Amino acid sequence: MSNYEKIQATDKAYVANTYGRFPVAIKKGKGAVCYDFDGKKYIDFSSGIGVNSLGFCDDGWIKAVTGQLSTLQHISNLYYTSPCAEAAKILCEKTGMKKVFFSNSGAESNEGAIKCARKYSFMNYGEGRNKIITLNNSFHGRTVTTLAATGQDVFHNFFFPFTQGFEFAPANDIDALKIALEDSSVCALMIELIQGEGGVMPLDKAFVKEAEKLCKEKDILLIVDEVQTGIGRTGKLFAFQQYDITPDIVTTAKGIGGGLPLGCVIFGEKTEKVLEAGDHATTFGGNPVATAGAKYILEKMNDDFLAEVESKGNYIKDKLTKMPHVIACDGMGLMIGVRLDNSIKSADVVKKGIDNGVLTLTAKAKLRLLPPLTISYKEINEGLSAIAKTLDEI
Ligand SMILES: *Cc1c(COP(=O)(O)O)cnc(C)c1O
Repeated sequence: MSNYEKIQATDKAYVANTYGRFPVAIKKGKGAVCYDFDGKKYIDFSSGIGVNSLGFCDDGWIKAVTGQLSTLQHISNLYYTSPCAEAAKILCEKTGMKKVFFSNSGAESNEGAIKCARKYSFMNYGEGRNKIITLNNSFHGRTVTTLAATGQDVFHNFFFPFTQGFEFAPANDIDALKIALEDSSVCALMIELIQGEGGVMPLDKAFVKEAEKLCKEKDILLIVDEVQTGIGRTGKLFAFQQYDITPDIVTTAKGIGGGLPLGCVIFGEKTEKVLEAGDHATTFGGNPVATAGAKYILEKMNDDFLAEVESKGNYIKDKLTKMPHVIACDGMGLMIGVRLDNSIKSADVVKKGIDNGVLTLTAKAKLRLLPPLTISYKEINEGLSAIAKTLDEI
């Protein structure tokens, strides 16, 4: 048996069968390149689903993380630690937001945002004003509550009863949103600015601006789920900065830990004092090792770094749109959704791409690319060649 076959057999025998894995085991990586157990090389256009923002095993990030790891790995949120405080400070300074609650994942971050919105409304308006509007085709996580918040019917099965209090409105439809927000029991609107899992679907700027205005008028909290779009992915630190809005709550996760499990809820002026001691907590959230890495990542994301993300994204889109089967590219920065013609399936491109040495993702019918933000042009060109070859063969 090969190393891969051994790993696969053990995994199949002992790991819960909740993932349809590709027939590859990845052994090691550096930058945007990784290798399997046979030594086969892959260009990574997936970042572990938008997680490895600085690529595999970035030297500075390793130093930050391992330095902290050999100093203090954990002490609980009953005590202060420096990396947690410092990472929160940078997040606030770079966004104009006021406070940070660290969690361990995207779903957990959204849970925190939902709790905050409900409490804000309870404190200011009393019982009964607790409905949260989210958008059709959204994705907000896999817990029972965040599944309920997700605006896709396929996720509302088996696990009944779901958390109550979520209703859905169509994206980019201002009139429909107006009607939804007229309901006096609504306390918050939760949106992704670019729907990621839903197919890399950016919201229109006019819709987002109007949504912000409507929310302000009615004191409905605007929650922006930046679990996928945050931490430089779109060419700004957060996508809400692309849309020039001021959310009341921002959630993020994926890219902030650079590969370690970390997420956060960021509160604005209206919400910074809502959750108090005893209202919300997590054992692991904000742990010093993950936040030391986050601090390093956030410090790296200056204007030059973010401008590069945008340039690389434009470069990739330009090359892709000239390839066979490609109709157009959606998204911003290094969050790219490739619209393919009907003759091919995005899942087949991903599968065949692996054979050709490139790791990509799907988002519904689109091919989705989330390369590490530090990817070099040499790596980009190599990955694009593998995609071109794949599209040619298919
Ligand atoms: C991935 C994702 C989530 C869920 O994050 P987990 O870390 O898997 O819980 C939530 N919202 C959005 C927009 C996401 O892309």
